[in-house]
Amino acid sequence: MQRVYNFSAGPSMLPLSVLEKAAEEMTNFQGSGMSVMEMSHRSPVYQGIIDEAESNLRKLMNIPDNYKVLFLQGGATQQFAAVPLNLMNKNKKADYIVSGQFSKKAAEEAAKFGEVNIIASSKDRNFAYIPKVNEFSPDADYVHICYNNTIFGTCYDYVPETGDIPLVADMSSGILSRPVDVSKYGLIYAGAQKNMGPSGLTVVIVREDLLVGAREGTPVMLDYKVQADNGSMYNTPPCYSIYVAGLVFKWLLETGGLEERERINIKKANILYDFLDNSKLFKATADKEVRSLMNVCFVTGDADKDKDFVSAASKAGFVNLKGHRVVGGMRASIYNAMPVEGVEALVEFMRNYEKENA
Ligand SMILES: *Cc1c(COP(=O)(O)O)cnc(C)c1O
Repeated sequence: MQRVYNFSAGPSMLPLSVLEKAAEEMTNFQGSGMSVMEMSHRSPVYQGIIDEAESNLRKLMNIPDNYKVLFLQGGATQQFAAVPLNLMNKNKKADYIVSGQFSKKAAEEAAKFGEVNIIASSKDRNFAYIPKVNEFSPDADYVHICYNNTIFGTCYDYVPETGDIPLVADMSSGILSRPVDVSKYGLIYAGAQKNMGPSGLTVVIVREDLLVGAREGTPVMLDYKVQADNGSMYNTPPCYSIYVAGLVFKWLLETGGLEERERINIKKANILYDFLDNSKLFKATADKEVRSLMNVCFVTGDADKDKDFVSAASKAGFVNLKGHRVVGGMRASIYNAMPVEGVEALVEFMRNYEKENA
């Protein structure tokens, strides 16, 4: 069977050339006589893989030297707890901006460990916008945001100016979609399965001065300082996921880096949003100024028609267009690996569907 256009929100499409490279190296990685899945994480050959992945990610994101890069497990969801356990260390208080389902979950988890102030929320309009916030609790240990809201299809169009208070961002679905100024953040975390690689890997980028050690009673695996001091190898890291993510980082560097990626991602998103804005049948749900480049959410306004569209699209080879179960409708996730032609083909299909069903 031919490969489909896969609009899954995650795990999601990977570049075909990366999959082919992984396939080529599957049984014998660069003359080692074994698969990356079979080698000791303590071996020099694996150390080479993880070091190259880190150095390429640093290059791609222009990560300053005073930041550590950690390759962890447990998903972004585990970071909802790891962040307060490590960073709620002065006043045991943190500010959270709730702009969707994941930031709400992050705030709920953090509330188990200290005082959480929800300083703004966009719940009043079903998370169609990003709250603009410029005032923070002076005694907050950090401010937490969700940079790109995977379920609602919105993305921050500004960086909250938190001054001396570290800014923490869940970038799971937005990382590597465009350049970001890492120095504006104290900590960035992201599950790999949206825009970096296979699931099982979570990347944490953390400013060194925040690595003071987690609070007492923290499980050792959740202690950033322990992970940093051990080069992400306190125990066995997600070896194969790191290897594939490394291939993705290399692919991004070889194809022009994040400036070029942003240009392509804007082009792809515009093709889809322009169609939606002129459609008689479909309508985009997020406010224009904060529309995500990665997750494009839309509806027909009729749940039965939505269902019919998703099923017709799937039969035509455009799969995983169903919106998240908490919002319904449709969502086209168009991460880095989705080619421009995939978006063009989807719009063509939607145009024909509209003609027949409007
Ligand atoms: C997918 C996602 C999560 C959850 O990630 P897991 O790796 O499944 O824990 C959290 N935050 C955002 C923004 C996401 O897109």
